[in-house]
Parts: sequence; C-alpha cells; structure tokens
Amino acid sequence: MVESATPSQAPSSSASLDTTRFMAKDLCAYLESYLEPDQVSEVYRAYLFGAEAHEGQTRLSGDPYIVHPLAVAKTMAEMRMDHRSIIAAILHDVMEDTHISKERIIEEFGEDVAELVDGVSKLTHLKFRSKAEAQAENFRKMMLAITRDLRVIMVKLADRLHNMRTLGVMRPDKGRRIARETLEIYAPIAQRLGMNAIRRELEVLGFASHNPLRYKVLQDAVKKSRGHRKEVMQKIETAICSRMEEAGIVSRIIGREKNLYSIYRKMQQKRLSFEEVFDVFAIRIVVTDVDACYRALGVVHNLYKPVPGRFKDYIAIPKANGYQSLHTVLFGPHGIPIEVQIRTEEMDRVAESGIAAHWLYKAGDRQSASAQARAREWLKGVLEIQQAAGNSMEFLENVKVDLFPEEVYIFTPRGEIMELPKGATAVDFAYAVHSDVGNTCVAAKIDRRLAPLSTKLESGRTVEVITAPGARPNPAWLNFVVTGKARAAIRHYLKNLQQGEAVNLGRRLLDKALIGVGKSLEEIPPEQMQGLLEDLQLPNLDALLGDVGLGNRMATLVARRLCSDDADAEADEAEPSPAILGKPLAVKGTEGMVLSFAKCCHPIPGDPIVGVMSAGRGLVVHREQCRNVAEYRNKPDKWIPVAWSEDSTQEYAAAIRAQTANKRGVLANLASVIADMGSNIENVSFDERDGHASTITFTLSVRSRKHLADLMRRLRRVPEVLRISRARG
Ligand code: MN
Repeated sequence: MVESATPSQAPSSSASLDTTRFMAKDLCAYLESYLEPDQVSEVYRAYLFGAEAHEGQTRLSGDPYIVHPLAVAKTMAEMRMDHRSIIAAILHDVMEDTHISKERIIEEFGEDVAELVDGVSKLTHLKFRSKAEAQAENFRKMMLAITRDLRVIMVKLADRLHNMRTLGVMRPDKGRRIARETLEIYAPIAQRLGMNAIRRELEVLGFASHNPLRYKVLQDAVKKSRGHRKEVMQKIETAICSRMEEAGIVSRIIGREKNLYSIYRKMQQKRLSFEEVFDVFAIRIVVTDVDACYRALGVVHNLYKPVPGRFKDYIAIPKANGYQSLHTVLFGPHGIPIEVQIRTEEMDRVAESGIAAHWLYKAGDRQSASAQARAREWLKGVLEIQQAAGNSMEFLENVKVDLFPEEVYIFTPRGEIMELPKGATAVDFAYAVHSDVGNTCVAAKIDRRLAPLSTKLESGRTVEVITAPGARPNPAWLNFVVTGKARAAIRHYLKNLQQGEAVNLGRRLLDKALIGVGKSLEEIPPEQMQGLLEDLQLPNLDALLGDVGLGNRMATLVARRLCSDDADAEADEAEPSPAILGKPLAVKGTEGMVLSFAKCCHPIPGDPIVGVMSAGRGLVVHREQCRNVAEYRNKPDKWIPVAWSEDSTQEYAAAIRAQTANKRGVLANLASVIADMGSNIENVSFDERDGHASTITFTLSVRSRKHLADLMRRLRRVPEVLRISRARG
C-alpha cells in the first residue's frame, strides 16, 4: 500500500530516472553474489515492468514511485531471499496502486510471484483499528494466520521498514499512527521470526516518531556520554584485535552501542537510570568456527579479568529461539564493564535475520515449496537444538502459536477482532458476541455475503449475524458448534424448553392417574398438595409435574399419595394401580422432547402402542408387540396405556426389510418406488446372504400404517423383490 505517499500525476525528471536505473543496477549487482544469472535478469525485467506500471506516480518526497519497491527489494536481497520474493517485492504495490491484475502478473511472472503479490495486497486491507493491547496481539496473530506464505510477511516487513525510513515527509499525526502500529505490530512480528536486524531498526524509527521528545532527550544523553567513551572503546578494540592476531584467530570485531529504544525500554522495565543502562561497553567478536569461539574466549579472559558468574555458553546450550553465542563480561580499563559476545558468522546471520537466514538453505528444491513447510522446517531445526539443550520451550510455543494458530480471528462489523477456536462456525461467533444474539440468530453474512450458520469461519473475514425476534436455537446446532459458550447456551435453552414440555406431559399423566382413582387435579385441597411438596422437598407444583413428565417420578404413586390420608400409602405399591384402567393417553407426536418413539420397533399411527416411562427421558412409545417392552408388563407404574390421537399429521420412521435377488440396480429401483410413494429413505443397511439374494433394511418416513402398507404393496411388484416385511423390534 502507499502508506507514506499518495500517487499523484507528476512528470518524473530525467535526473530521478537515472537514480532509479542506478538503484536497479545496484540491486542486480548485489543479487549476482548469490543468484543465478537468469534469475537476476528476471528481476531486472520485473523492475522494467514495475517502473512502467508506476509511471507518473511519485512518493511524497517527490521521488518516482518505483524507488520505494526497489528499496524494499534491496532489503529482501540483504536477507538473501530467493528471486521470486525479490520480484514480488518490486511488484508489491502494483495490484493496489495501478491497473495491473493478478492474471497479468501470472502471465508475466508465474503463479508463485502472483500469489505473493496478492498476499501482500490482502494484508494491506487488514486495518488495525483499536488501541487495546489484546487487540494488537490478536492482530499480529491474524496477520500470520491469513498468510499462507511467510515470504509475504517478509515483504510486508521490508515495505514497512522503507516507509519508516521515509516517514519524515509525512504529516506528524499520520506519522505517529504509523509509528505506533510499527511498534505494536510489525516490530514484534520481526522479533517472532528472529529477524533482529529489521526489528531493531523498526523499533528505533518507530520510537523516534512516536515519542519524539523522549527520543531527543535520550539521543542527547548518548551524544554527551559518547565523547569520552570513544577513546576508551578504541583502545579496547585495538587491544583485543592485536591479541587475536597473536593467537592466529581470524576475527571481525564490532563495537556495539545499545539502540535508543532498547535503552528506553530497559530503563522503564528495570527502573534503571540512564547511566546504569548506558555505561556498559559492548563488543561482538565474529569468528570462523566453533573451535575459534572458545579460543577467542580464552584470549579475552587473558586480556581482562572476567566478572565472576557472568559467563554464559549459549553455544553448548542455545537459547530457546536457537540463538547461539558465548557471553561474558570483563573488567575493562578503569573498571568499566565490557559485555562480550563471541560467535561464528553463521550464528551471527541467524541471530540477525532469523527465519530468512534459513530461506536459501535448501538449494535443492527449485520450486519454492510452501513457505509454511519451510517455517515448519525452521521450527523443527530450532526444536532439535532445544531438545539437545533441554531448556525452556516457551519461545517455541509462542512462535508455534503465531505461525500455526489454533484460533481464527474474525472481524465484527464494527471492526473489533474476535478470537475463536479453529473450526468455529457462524453460530459460535453469534454466541461469542452475546448469548441473546446466538439464541435469535437465523443467518450470517460473511464478507457481506449470506452464508449458512454452520459455515466454518476463516481468519480475516468480517462476520455479521442476522437475528430475528422470536427465533429459537436449533438442537441440530449442537452437531457443529465448537465453543463451550455456544454449546452451554444452546443446552441451557433446550433444557428450559424440555422442562416446559415435561410440565405439560406431567400434568396430563397425573390427571389421568387421578381420574383412575376417581379424582382430578383441581379437587386436591391446596394443603394436601403443599404437604406432599414439602415431603418430597420440591419448591412448587411445576417441579413435581416436571419430574413426572421426565419419568423421574411415577404419576400413579403421586396420585395415590395425594388421595390417601396416611403417608404410608407406598406400602401397597406392588398392587396393580386402577389407573391403567382409565382412558389411554393420546399421542400426537408433537409433544416435543419428553416423548419419543422407540428406535427398536418404530411405531407408526395405526399400530397398537404402549408407553414406558424412562427416567430423565420422559415417555418412550413402543409397539405393543416389541420384545423390549415385555419386561415392563409386570411394572404397571412405568407402563402407560397410550393411543394415537386422531389428528396426528407428523411423519414417522418405520423399518422394512426387503429380500431381493442379487441384480444390478435393485437398490436404485427400490429407491425410486419409495420416492414415488412420497416417502424418504432415512437409512439403508445392506446384508448379502449368499451370491443370489441380499437383505436390505430401509428406515423410511411414513404418515400411517396405511401409507406403509401401500408402499410395501408397490415394492412387492418390483421383479427382483423376493420378500418384503416390516422389521420388528
Ligand atoms: Mn509499499
């Protein structure tokens, strides 16, 4: 995106044209040090293509626009990235700011480059909208989550780096916002990926623009103390250098100064004064191999006395992020402490550029495989170092969480970010917003398009929930929701619903039982009812009726206790209750969750049926001849006489068994007859007896016994059918 510039139409001067051509040549010369010649010329072609696309656009600084992508490409080259990343860096703004389409880039530079450019453009559309710290954390994770190729993140970081380097020309308020975003989002991502060189520069530039006053104060303080330091520093470096030469160790010695942002942070976090943080000299010695590291350590310990207890061997025991180095602190001249780091060139490269240092490592695979796979490889490498060293996994856990998140990050229509577990659906999102939204949701819009509630959400999408007053949760949602909150809220709602239905059924059952003894619920004196409720420790009549309806309490027993004066009525429990002599309970099929039809015998209207009370489930209706109810015949309190209501309009499941000849297309023939008869197949099971005949069992939806009988008659006429029968429980 054009973050620090607005493309405007202005003729580019010939002088700046020279500048850009020089930059491009410089880039290519750099690339020749590690890429193949044909790859470098491909990069140059990308430069010509990009320059033409951005023709006439300028940066706020007045430079031709192409200067910016070239600078981004140079940063990528300094990390020794592959040629496709470099091309993507050169083209990273063309889809956003010119009329070049993705298809055009595919034509010119192939799928891989186009995907990278597209990825960078997509990140550009993610807008960081809130100040909350948790939001920043989520935003960082979201950036990584929606990026399938980590090179996209690297281009984005290089892009941000150049925008920060040229931030000076920007309006101060806008600059401050970009600086804050850099400190909160981009620098931590660079750190996560181990890209410390970029991270440090982003931090210093971000600090300078975000907090110019503090930056200035610290800068002045550093300048003041630097004066007398310079000489001492020089002396120390020369001393070490000559000792190294004497010992025959080839080395690079770098005097280091802590960057202003890390001084500022250290002062804040450890509550130290400027002198305490700054008055330490720091030196890095880079050598050729591990052996030389330890020899160099001997040399410096011989030159200045080491501070006891400050030596750390991160080569033998690397830091959690794979960082390797020897650390020691010396008493320098005048007792000034000197921090020394000693490491190999390779260790230095890893410490500076992190994941990028591993990019070209596997030169073998030409097709730059999925970057996520490379990230995994990188992590695996770090993991191996870790396991060998046996130290903390914390860093790794953090990186893993960031690169391969278990969560998805979703925008609300107002731009807030919601974190949900992977696999979360629109319903989970609705409940995460508010349980009322979940309870009344009817549809969802994902990126402004209508989508089913069961749609699994992807990171970076904007989701809007459509609710309707009076809408209710659907029990089927329990099959796809993944969050505890949604599950608990749906269950809670259904339980309330079930309780209501249980009270209704309980009232009917109790009334029926009372009629059996010649009474009705209205005739029971209130104090009698109250007495029973107290005995049973129930708060009210609904609680009692609910218990009866759910099958936790027997209606006949309750009825008997309500009618008898003495409390030991339970003594004659075993006696068959006269209640069973009453009129059977009418079953409509619409009683809801407290009445169900047995799966063993599939009763349908017209079948003689019985009801069995089952604790917690309410009334279960079986066919009278079902084997599973035989044992209840002697338990009259659980055995409820029921009959079909006249006005039942429901569909019911029925099971039929078909013996057929083994011929091709039998199942299809049967299925089409079933469909013609206005029935649906809910389930089919297939059982081949021998080579000649098979048994197919269908579970079908039917309206009544007559409907089923008609259906079976039609099926018998199918030539391959040998026998049709209804399956019994
Ligand atoms: Mn850019």
